[in-house]
Amino acid sequence: MPDWLALYYDRPIELTHGEGRHVWDADGNRYLDFFGGILTTMTAHALPEVTKAVADQAGRIIHSSTLYLNRPMIELAERVAALSGIPDARVFFTTSGTEANDTALLLATTYRRSNQILAMRNSYHGRSFSTVSVTGNRGWSTTSLSPLQTYYVHGAVRTRGPFAALPDAEFTAAAVADLEDVLGQARGGVAALIAEPVQGVGGFTAPPDGLYGAFREVLDRHGILWISDEVQTGWGRTGDHFWGWQAHAQNGPPDILTFAKGIGNGMSIGGVVARSEVMNCLDASSISTFGGSPVTMAAGVANLAYLQEHDLQGNARRVGGLLLNRLRAVCAGVPAVREVRGRGLMAGLELTEPGTDRAHPAAAAAVLEAAREGGLLLGRGGGHDTSVLRIAPPLSLTVAEAEEGAEILEQALRSIP
Ligand code: PLP
Repeated sequence: MPDWLALYYDRPIELTHGEGRHVWDADGNRYLDFFGGILTTMTAHALPEVTKAVADQAGRIIHSSTLYLNRPMIELAERVAALSGIPDARVFFTTSGTEANDTALLLATTYRRSNQILAMRNSYHGRSFSTVSVTGNRGWSTTSLSPLQTYYVHGAVRTRGPFAALPDAEFTAAAVADLEDVLGQARGGVAALIAEPVQGVGGFTAPPDGLYGAFREVLDRHGILWISDEVQTGWGRTGDHFWGWQAHAQNGPPDILTFAKGIGNGMSIGGVVARSEVMNCLDASSISTFGGSPVTMAAGVANLAYLQEHDLQGNARRVGGLLLNRLRAVCAGVPAVREVRGRGLMAGLELTEPGTDRAHPAAAAAVLEAAREGGLLLGRGGGHDTSVLRIAPPLSLTVAEAEEGAEILEQALRSIP
């Protein structure tokens, strides 16, 4: 491996091409991509509709920045604003999820004139100075020199922590009480709560439905904004809803929504949607040089159209449901699998030392490696030593491919030491 590159894996795979739900490496090996890039390849690899839109646009104009308009940017902004569920919505495009959350935090702190933020334990929001400052797990942030005053709240993780044994309604009530307690300590204005509806890097773990809606009521009383980080949960990934926040909608939509990953099918698009009153806090000179690039926007428009026309959200619900049942069956006799959980095409297998709550990173590493040898790419995450195997294929996954992946995984689970 080239030692002049900073990379995630010790033995990274050099990818050459992809098609549908599969990718190939430089040695000619074929893999079923059960991680969809990093939830970036939302529809399919090398989707002809997206490839053509990119090529056509590249032949006209590649760059414009947010200084100027371009037709695909207008179209994508219109569609995303309408889909967001946020009234009087305005969109600002960035190039990554980190930058989207950074912008959301900038908006909220400016709007509320406060640098106090609420975030969830076990959260991940990106790699910039502000976003690591609201990331609950120190393992994923490299600094403790936060420019923000952040308070971490319980509730995002259903199966661990002090309320884990409680039934859903009591769990939510306990998390709301914790939120109130934290607010009592905050003194003065808190700008926003930032939360992932289903935590991604945290190991595909979700609170009971309605928890953030219950939080919303408290936030409203204090004039605190709700930022829903939909970087992993947007575009129908969770099956039942187009956005993750819609499982928590009883008191209305979030004030700010951030997105990235899947919308460009691998092209780098991020963005923020907010009520215009909040978005107007962005100074007129807030430019993103590469945000809203015509080529990435053209990919986004084509990708979103494909997703909607082929009801990939419905596919995520149907095939995701079948896959989850199959994974549960495959894992039933494996003592190291503490939990199999999932929503739509977002499934997590939490590995612990058998019979305990202790994370089992060696097991996660062994299964990841064996799956790769067997032709299956998985993701890894989870706040406790990244011992959760994460499954998030492109939303066009077929039933046969779900079965193919489950069979390889069944073999790979035998490699647990
Ligand atoms: N927010 C969430 C929920 C994420 O999962 C990620 C990345 O994994 C980010 C933000 C950061 O996005 P990016 O890596 O595009 O900067």
